[in-house]
Amino acid sequence: MTTVLITGTRPYGEGDPVDVLIDDGVITRIVPTVAGGRDAGGPDSAASAADEVIEAAGTVLLPGFVDMHTHLREPGREDAETVRSGSAAAARGGYTAVFAMANTEPVADTAVVTDHVYAQGQAVGLVDVHPVGAVTKGLAGAELAEMGVMAASSAAVRLFSDDGHCVADPLIMRRALEYARGLDVLIAQHAEEPRLTEGAVAHEGPTAARLGLAGWPRAAEESIVIRDALLARDAGARVHICHASTAGTVELIRWAKDQGIAITAEVTPHHLMLDDARLESYDGIFRVNPPLREESDTRALRAALADGVVDCVATDHAPHAAQDKCCEFSQARPGMLGLETALGVVAQTMVAPGLIDWRGVADVMSVRPAQITGLPDHGRPIEVGETANLTVVDPDSAWTVRGAELASIADNTPYEDLTLPARVRATLLRGRVTCVDGKVRAR
Ligand SMILES: [Zn+2]
Repeated sequence: MTTVLITGTRPYGEGDPVDVLIDDGVITRIVPTVAGGRDAGGPDSAASAADEVIEAAGTVLLPGFVDMHTHLREPGREDAETVRSGSAAAARGGYTAVFAMANTEPVADTAVVTDHVYAQGQAVGLVDVHPVGAVTKGLAGAELAEMGVMAASSAAVRLFSDDGHCVADPLIMRRALEYARGLDVLIAQHAEEPRLTEGAVAHEGPTAARLGLAGWPRAAEESIVIRDALLARDAGARVHICHASTAGTVELIRWAKDQGIAITAEVTPHHLMLDDARLESYDGIFRVNPPLREESDTRALRAALADGVVDCVATDHAPHAAQDKCCEFSQARPGMLGLETALGVVAQTMVAPGLIDWRGVADVMSVRPAQITGLPDHGRPIEVGETANLTVVDPDSAWTVRGAELASIADNTPYEDLTLPARVRATLLRGRVTCVDGKVRAR
């Protein structure tokens, strides 16, 4: 039995400082911090017997973060990321659970692959790795994958997505939603009408036109969002929209929710912070799918996350080997790292301007994604009796992002040399400290 004591922290950044005692993976005591600390001979003698003490004065205590959208690249592209390196990045970013997307090589469209990824995650033990199953075989969009077999496997797959590709055929999407309803699993759609984005590398707008880059119109995303909302309505199924990127998508989701349609949506940190003005550099690091949009979209996404129309933040953490990013813009593979920088970006774009408070951060980075994906032990209230999946955040800290210093094998961060607020002090998975002050503790 291991006991950990976190001293002087404030759950959700609210109220007076408390000491939180964790015993064998469960929160067992939350008591006011004694002025002067335990050495002052305070009454809490049980606490002073803890195996490990995390001195955390001035910190905010949050439920551990849950990422619905991570690319771990294993199997197949271990030169960019592995379950081990991605788990380390997740722990440093404050995550206690991640969903690993299916577009690996081979594709995670069978229980053999999803069970392999799940087992790797368990062996590493830094974060709960939940494999996402492909909706269609080989992500080809033509034939449904064996969703039922994956759902019944040891990985118990709950989330299915062809992410990286859109399930573009409306009849296939309709069947997938009907099947998902029967299995009580969730389809997450990468909303991109492929005919409208052939050859596209950047947001279709004045910037792309000036730079001579082929444009990706907003309608390519929005037409699939509204189509899938209607298909989900008819199927009586739930649908989740990956990486919402336009102001129009926000309005369509608002409409669908008003109709009672079971639709949810995520936004990435980079779509909250960055817009297509970054493309002036022609730096392939800023190529991402969906593309960085205009500043008006960024503003709309922030507002939608604050008012709950967009449910949560998901990183779309997408590691790429250097040769796939350091090339001509139109040749660069789309995607950016996100796990270690997500909290800092959310703090800067959402907390600093007062759009949300720390309880709001808990909602969009932990509570909602855990609810949407059905994780019973994550996104829980910070209360006695709850499983200790926790993140300790220092809101007054600042750190400068250096791709080479991140835990990921790849270093394709769009925030190189940027100083971000609110670094993670510590992360605990079922009461075990997985990361403290940036140092990952492998089991
Ligand atoms: Zn993705």
